[in-house]
Amino acid sequence: MKCTRCRTRAAVEVPRANAAFCGDCFTESYVRNLVTRAIRHDRMFGPDARVLVAVSGGKDSLALWDLLLDLGYQADGLYLGLGIGGYSTRSHVVCQEFADARGAKLVTVDVADRAGFTIPQAAATKRRPACAICGLSKRHLFNAAAKEGGYDVVATGHNLDDEVAVLLGNVLRWETGYLARQSPVLESTHPSLVKKVKPLYRVAERETAAYCVLKGIDYVVEECPLVEGNTQMKYKGLLDTLESQSPGTKHNFLFGFLEKGRAHFPPDGVVLNECVECGSATPSDTCAFCRSKTVIGVAIGSRPRDWAPAGS
Ligand code: SF4
Ligand SMILES: [Zn+2]
Ligand SMILES: [Zn+2]
Repeated sequence: MKCTRCRTRAAVEVPRANAAFCGDCFTESYVRNLVTRAIRHDRMFGPDARVLVAVSGGKDSLALWDLLLDLGYQADGLYLGLGIGGYSTRSHVVCQEFADARGAKLVTVDVADRAGFTIPQAAATKRRPACAICGLSKRHLFNAAAKEGGYDVVATGHNLDDEVAVLLGNVLRWETGYLARQSPVLESTHPSLVKKVKPLYRVAERETAAYCVLKGIDYVVEECPLVEGNTQMKYKGLLDTLESQSPGTKHNFLFGFLEKGRAHFPPDGVVLNECVECGSATPSDTCAFCRSKTVIGVAIGSRPRDWAPAGS
């Protein structure tokens, strides 16, 4: 098999593009072009933006950080300590080593410091599934860290497979509000919200893995021990079967939706207020993160360092 671009020996086959690439053409041309196209086409950020990249130690977020640094962007990393035992410890080490090797800055925030609970502690209360409270905490703390650090934009490592699995879930449940908001760019709609972007949304999951292997990026291969029961993983399995039988299915589903489907789901027009406890945007008086802090804090008998009852 020869590289579609330079005709030397190919290292990676990309069936969905009916192409194959040698290592250099894959990393420096194919993947890089998909990311630069996303950044420019979707007006994610300009050359002088300060970008905060949410890194977990996994292949997607480290590939994204690597690409943004290579492309010359001011990109700092943000690692969120979820308190998931050895998995979190190893993930943090991998992120710090990546940053040190490139002379990049890694900001670290512990969920326990800000929320008063680790993700396993929150999951043990059975108030919400682990991934739901984890996702909620991540969204809140990514935004808070970006706001505190004066960043222009938060970039996450969501890839094509992630976006397609979310789309399938939203369609299966006809979540019209989520369908209206599903986008590679979430503009700031409130002074407390920082713009969010997904520069890898055109890159498939197996392509980010190949990118890391070819670039020698050491990433955490093990799955989070709390992933079991995650619905998105089930959708990914189904979509992999469809993609193997019909390459391009994932791409066509997502891009068909973005180009032709999303416009049929107008924004729900929810008015955002400031959370009475933390000031972040919320459709009610208190944001979901602050409500969780209180409810889970009571259940496990702890308080976050910055916790204070409303009105005190
Ligand atoms: S699998 Fe669930 S609990 Fe684990 S890091 Fe991902 S969202 Fe969080
Ligand atoms: Zn080549
Ligand atoms: Zn709040």
